[in-house]
Amino acid sequence: TDAVVYHDPYDVSVEEVEDPELEGPNDALVEVTTTAICGSDLHMYEGRAGADPGMVFGHEFMGTVREVGEGVETLSPGDRVVLPFNVSCGHCRNCEAGYTGFCTNVESDSPGAAYGYVNMGPYRGGQAESVRVPYADFNALELPEGDEHEDDFILLADVFPTGWHGTELADLQPGESIAVYGAGPVGTMAAYSAKLRGASEIYVVDRVESRLEMVEEHCDAVPINFEEDDPAERIKERHGGGVDRGVDAVGYQAIEGDREGDSPYDAARENPSIVLNHLVDTVRATGKIGVVGVYVSADPNAPEQVEQQGKLDLAFGKLFEKGLRFGTGQCDVKRYNRRLRDMIVDGVAEPSFLVSHRVSLEDAPEMYERFDEREEGVTKVLLTP
Ligand code: NAD
Ligand code: ZN
Repeated sequence: TDAVVYHDPYDVSVEEVEDPELEGPNDALVEVTTTAICGSDLHMYEGRAGADPGMVFGHEFMGTVREVGEGVETLSPGDRVVLPFNVSCGHCRNCEAGYTGFCTNVESDSPGAAYGYVNMGPYRGGQAESVRVPYADFNALELPEGDEHEDDFILLADVFPTGWHGTELADLQPGESIAVYGAGPVGTMAAYSAKLRGASEIYVVDRVESRLEMVEEHCDAVPINFEEDDPAERIKERHGGGVDRGVDAVGYQAIEGDREGDSPYDAARENPSIVLNHLVDTVRATGKIGVVGVYVSADPNAPEQVEQQGKLDLAFGKLFEKGLRFGTGQCDVKRYNRRLRDMIVDGVAEPSFLVSHRVSLEDAPEMYERFDEREEGVTKVLLTP
């Protein structure tokens, strides 16, 4: 099977790897029809997550069931399915409570597991022609037959549910205002979810113009370029004490807008605390903030980095004074993907406006590079094996 294989920082290639096989009675093999590159893949691509050379990437994929283990009851060869990026068993304490991002039965060094992700178990990635899906009855979400809505359904693997999760963690209610930091795929889907959930006013902060235009057009959001304006000040000018809700869809690789730097991703411009502090400033007292941007950056093989893992220069006093509440973590994709699928089927949601490119799997190395640069117009890249 051909797959996207990691070698070194900024170096991936498409190569033949061993065909996946059924390893347990609850496994299924899925032939991938569409897979996607995610901002989370960039943590590994940029070499900051300690991925091992030879690793196959990809946690966003959908396709056709080719073979099922003898214990699989609800799936048959030929079924069209999309997989949550989380691997979960369905019957542990966390899965039962809906926290499928924190399954305790999976093999993983961190809470919860995912395909093709460092420290999140041995589950090989789906940027490939075929992939093994464990606990297949529980994980696979069935889709209508045919090839309709392919560009919408692929977004159910991660970014649409994750954006929704951001607004859920922030406890967004109809008629409330919200600020979303980050207009990457996740932030854009958070803004879109806010629109679907009836937010009264949506602000989105980024600096990539094509991304800001997209949220303005499709999410009715007010775009704010953080290199031109102080986002918290801009938002509070319009919204006295601040907005009701906030979402962090940036994570630890946040860029500080007012510093000099040569390249867009000059490390000298990174400030892992800046977005959270902006949110503390932007959201009104007693408001709530959903953090879906990732704050796990350490290479487990580099102890000095483990020391720093997740330690931030956070204005906790201010946060306390305002009585703010935070929700954090991996998205439990299964909690949301069924109803989001139904919204797509019923024509209520059409998230595929996010997709900027569909190319063949062979073009993955070039598209990794361009997406990593946050090149204008490169928002969500789909790969066809
Ligand atoms: P992305 O990295 O392209 O998006 C990040 C965006 O933030 C970029 O457009 C960038 O220009 C912008 N940005 C940088 N500094 C900023 C600042 N100071 N203020 C505002 N915006 C700023 O890709 P993405 O796919 O949208 O991923 C975003 C984050 O979400 C990543 O950390 C990713 O790992 C994480 N993620 C989390 C989950 C989850 O389950 N919690 C799932 C998927 C992705
Ligand atoms: Zn993803």
